[in-house]
Amino acid sequence: MPELPEVETVKSGLANAIEGQVISNVECRVGKLRWPVPDNFVDRLRGRRLVQLSRRAKYILAHFDDETILLLHLGMSGRMTISDGRPAELEKHDHIILTAANGKVVRFNDARRFGSVHLATTATINAHPLIAGLGPEPLGNHFSGPVLAAALKGRRTAIKPTLLNQRLVAGVGNIYASEALFRAGISPRRLANSVAGQRAERLAQAIRTVLEEAIAAGGSSLRDHVQPNGELGYFQHAFKVYDRADLPCPTPTCGRPLQRLVQTGRATFFCSNCQR
Ligand SMILES: [Zn+2]
Repeated sequence: MPELPEVETVKSGLANAIEGQVISNVECRVGKLRWPVPDNFVDRLRGRRLVQLSRRAKYILAHFDDETILLLHLGMSGRMTISDGRPAELEKHDHIILTAANGKVVRFNDARRFGSVHLATTATINAHPLIAGLGPEPLGNHFSGPVLAAALKGRRTAIKPTLLNQRLVAGVGNIYASEALFRAGISPRRLANSVAGQRAERLAQAIRTVLEEAIAAGGSSLRDHVQPNGELGYFQHAFKVYDRADLPCPTPTCGRPLQRLVQTGRATFFCSNCQR
């Protein structure tokens, strides 16, 4: 499942290809993804200039010149592919196809259909049900140790599953929650309300660091964020603890086997020696 850094990489790749372009053609070959596609989807976007692409949590926002905003989520398996011109044969799950005036064609492919598209406007976006309840952006100016501590105050649940609550901080998913807790030296089982003061400061900084490093790795590993087959994004790699159960802890003075734990149905990876 794409996490925040991968969504950011996809957004940057889309921006490189079609930002500022008139979208001369829009095709929609599906009536429903996770939710129904808006009825007037094609008519509202066709012929409009795509002014800017941005990201909020794991949503990509395409801002058009009439103040329409396309709100897109990649879901579990959604992929964006860019090509020069429309391929002679589309792939099986190519649901939405945007053709830009510069000849670039963007295809949204989603085999499992957990992705979604919605339409909003600059006036309504902040009240949109998918956006309104989101907590602060972890890489934005409104996220800090004190902000995180305030969000965790009074919560008597384990910190790891609590970090996945998008109302507290937006866009932190399962992988980077494990990674950030390892960097901050905080046990995933620690009660959320005990993460305060310096500990919250360390965790907020660790969340920023793991996300920024992953975005930088995605950006540097692929020219223009495009893989050779035209797909945007990158393969997640180089985790310190995620999916590394029984492998040695990467802390040089530790080296003990990493552990796996299931919390609220999600796998957590950690070092019981380095994280308290
Ligand atoms: Zn360790």
